[in-house]
Amino acid sequence: MGALPGFNPRRFFIAFIFQAVMLAAAYSLIRHNIIRIDVTLILALFILLVAILTVSVAFALKPAAERMRKIESLETKLGEDREILARQESQWQKLLSYLRLGVVLVDGNGNVLLSNPAMQRLFALSPEEAKASSLAHFIRHYQFVELWRTARREKITQTLSAEVPQSKRFLRAEAYPLREPLQDLTLLVFEDVTELRHLETIRRDFVSNVSHELRTPLTSLKVLIESLRSGALEEPATASRFLGHIETEVDALTELVSELLELARIESQQFPLQRSPSDPCAVLKQGVERLHLQAERAGVTLTIECEEGLAHVLADAPRLEQVLVNLIHNAIKFTPSGGVITVAAKQGPGVIEFSVADTGAGISPDNQQRIFERFYKANPARNRVGTGLGLAIAKHIVEAHEGNIGVESKEGVGSRFFFTIPIAR
Ligand code: ADP
Repeated sequence: MGALPGFNPRRFFIAFIFQAVMLAAAYSLIRHNIIRIDVTLILALFILLVAILTVSVAFALKPAAERMRKIESLETKLGEDREILARQESQWQKLLSYLRLGVVLVDGNGNVLLSNPAMQRLFALSPEEAKASSLAHFIRHYQFVELWRTARREKITQTLSAEVPQSKRFLRAEAYPLREPLQDLTLLVFEDVTELRHLETIRRDFVSNVSHELRTPLTSLKVLIESLRSGALEEPATASRFLGHIETEVDALTELVSELLELARIESQQFPLQRSPSDPCAVLKQGVERLHLQAERAGVTLTIECEEGLAHVLADAPRLEQVLVNLIHNAIKFTPSGGVITVAAKQGPGVIEFSVADTGAGISPDNQQRIFERFYKANPARNRVGTGLGLAIAKHIVEAHEGNIGVESKEGVGSRFFFTIPIAR
């Protein structure tokens, strides 16, 4: 049989003995006629008995009541602590959800205890996959799972960079084995370094392209000089031809260096545009004028289509002219004799659209995607002349004007380069 809850038998026994002693004392006083029995006395004794019983029961129950009070206050405190914990957890979750870094906490058995939304993006997880309880199923990447295993086994931070095929992102992961009292847990942090890697590739390509572009004319110069030394100098006609070649190579080197400097200046943002309302037809005519002779020599017709009275553009006119010159220069280079180049400007929504169309070689769709990259040449074997920087510079200048540049082309038919410049308000 279960004891009365909160009832302390030991305390009740003490109270009971005390009460029995009191009764015995009263009986003894009556027995020895020290006090006389009458109805009042019996009543008084009865009341005393009831009072003693009540007091002893209350005395026996007192610690239970105190314990109850303590339990109640503990429960209140526990409730408050739970609320604080829930608030802190939701704050942590919110904080983690703002992080661009992916964060996962894994226990000793490889179960995911916590993860943030960035993980879903970095690993291209579907909402279903994001619910996976094991790390292996969650990230589906054996190298990163191995990283967690090694960190757990060796108890030292491990680092690894690898590509995630699902999201096509390149991630750098760090696995931190946690210490007491969280030992056996591992924190994995993932950083998206795709952009950094891309920039690193561009930098490497840039150095190799510049070296290549410099080496070609330098090698030619070396050969020409050696030929002159070993006898060509004695033959004036040959010597003069060789000197002509040397001049061409030096011109190519000068063009490369000045375009490189121009590109470096544009890309380093030390490129303050002096924008003012400019007449599109005037800029266009100026650009065409600069290349008129060159077009004539190449046997191509250069025409202008520009309606007078077009809205003025907000542009740095010399820079805008440079874009047109780069495009017309290319058009002349890639259009065979007898071809036509049309340079035009027309009104678009909030912009003036400039274009340079030719009846030249055209550009394949694959190459159209890449010709605006630095050093890219669609057909390097055929196109020995040129740096591959002209279109990259043009793109930078147009974008600095908040415009867009593009190309439409068909191989064997011709190309049309176009760009927009905002109208001056
Ligand atoms: P490049 O100095 O080689 O002309 P660009 O950046 O100006 O460098 O052009 C990049 C490449 O784009 C060229 O090498 C060429 O293959 C292609 N290209 C540019 N303009 C034309 C055009 N009008 N017709 C055909 N191909 C062109």
